[in-house]
Amino acid sequence: MQKIWYKSWPAGVPKKVHHGPSPITGVLGEHARLYPGRTAVNYYGRKITYGELDRLTGNFASALVKMGVRKGDRVSLYMENCPQFIIALIGGWKAGAVMVPSNPMFLGDELVYQLNDAAVESIVVQDDLFPILEPVIPGTPLKNIIVARRQAFLPDTPALPLHHSMTTAPIEAPGTISFSRMLSGPAGKIERETGLDDLALLQYTAGTTGMPKGAVITHRNLLYNTAGSAAWVGARSGDAHLAVLPLFHVTGLVHSMNMPLYTGGSIILLARYDTETVFAAVEKYRCAHWASIATMNIAVVNYPVVSGCDLSSLRTCVSGGSPVPREVIRQFREVTGANLVEGYGLSETVSQVTINPLGKPRLGSVGIPVQGTDIKIVSLDDWDRELPTGAEGELLVKGPQVMQGYWNRPGETRLALRDGWLATGDIARMDEDGYVYIVGRKKELIKASGYSVFPQEVESFLYEHPAVAEVVVVGVPDPYRVETVKAVIVLKQEYVNNISARDIIEWSRQKMAAYKYPRLVEFVSDLPRSGTGKIRRHLLK
Ligand code: AMP
Repeated sequence: MQKIWYKSWPAGVPKKVHHGPSPITGVLGEHARLYPGRTAVNYYGRKITYGELDRLTGNFASALVKMGVRKGDRVSLYMENCPQFIIALIGGWKAGAVMVPSNPMFLGDELVYQLNDAAVESIVVQDDLFPILEPVIPGTPLKNIIVARRQAFLPDTPALPLHHSMTTAPIEAPGTISFSRMLSGPAGKIERETGLDDLALLQYTAGTTGMPKGAVITHRNLLYNTAGSAAWVGARSGDAHLAVLPLFHVTGLVHSMNMPLYTGGSIILLARYDTETVFAAVEKYRCAHWASIATMNIAVVNYPVVSGCDLSSLRTCVSGGSPVPREVIRQFREVTGANLVEGYGLSETVSQVTINPLGKPRLGSVGIPVQGTDIKIVSLDDWDRELPTGAEGELLVKGPQVMQGYWNRPGETRLALRDGWLATGDIARMDEDGYVYIVGRKKELIKASGYSVFPQEVESFLYEHPAVAEVVVVGVPDPYRVETVKAVIVLKQEYVNNISARDIIEWSRQKMAAYKYPRLVEFVSDLPRSGTGKIRRHLLK
């Protein structure tokens, strides 16, 4: 077992970190008292101060409580990055709720699965996503549907571009509750007693096996990675943090929301990525920190006018989620002047497990374990057999960021967690200085544009297509998306000459989120199998 971290953890790590009733809500109140007028969130120029954020989240919490939301109830968020996401998340925590972020790219069936799995009775939905939710409500346990108008904080700004599946919804659909009205009620200041070991989040992830499931994350798990990341990047009070990673994923949540709020910084919030807007925001607001994924880094190095932009304010750029090509790291430094360091983590570990030290990064490595985290490399066949330095095996992690288990899935929890050690399903090796190199994935997870896609879920959708006799979904290399989803299909005899790959792709596009549906389809007459009849997925890549 490596215990490199205590030597390498940067100086200045808070030994004791403040935690109020719950970490972020407590510290938010403190910041609001100390500097009420400081910008907490800047959303396309609309600023929300710490004082305002504290008040709005308090109002939202008290409205939730009045609505009947009890401590421990699950509240889902089906929204893109917008101020209401932040207000609802923190307001939910103030009310003692367990928050369940949904990917805003989800379509109906994906929502039904998640809302039932987590038994969610209250949801906050963005108005232009409501038409996707509305028809499936009867198949869910939902009772309270809170609709947030995306442009509510930007009344005078031209409408932000819509995502492909969005339509313009009526502002208040019958039977729904207005988000704005929940904020405008009499100033309520609810803060339920929430301890560090209370549940904060169910973070849905494919994990290593089976269908998507909720990683159970406590406030302590979140606090650990928030404070640790802040120390690692050297976040200072007043720093501007570019927030363009989706907040529904833990890495975005920790780096782009919790970390700025924890350290008294400003969140420069963007709904989604485009290089020009990102550069303009860095320049205009002098952003010091940017957490990103490989797809964004690739877009940066291919952006034609990068050299004309003043990005000198950037002190740290952290990337992860899937391997960042070495050449991209090199070119990123060359064209932006900023240091790009790679980290590694999972939903089950609230983001970080390892990260490259800012001053001593190693190309191709995901860095060293973060403070308080132990890792070991074990044999792929036997967890109890730890491998020597340099050998490739499964990466196991133990530390205060490791989830409590999977929501309502004791069997799958036992497979992933043993004596506090989490089996990551990633194959890695470690060098003599403790730097970790991810060399592959034992699990079948596909990483498309940073999003995790579990083949079994895509396959189960494709089996609904009448022409599909058998299907295997794999990830194949893609220059921009890093990996893309490919379906290899055996057609039913009667469809062999009657259907095209395009037809299947088009059908899938209507059923699945944009990052998930197969963009490549190949028809084969048979699938390769092992002696025991198991499909040999790796041969299909
Ligand atoms: P998620 O739970 O969606 O955050 O996905 C976690 C998975 O992403 C890990 O188990 C890895 O397979 C992969 N991953 C994350 N960061 C990296 C990285 N820097 N290099 C390679 N794979 C990564």
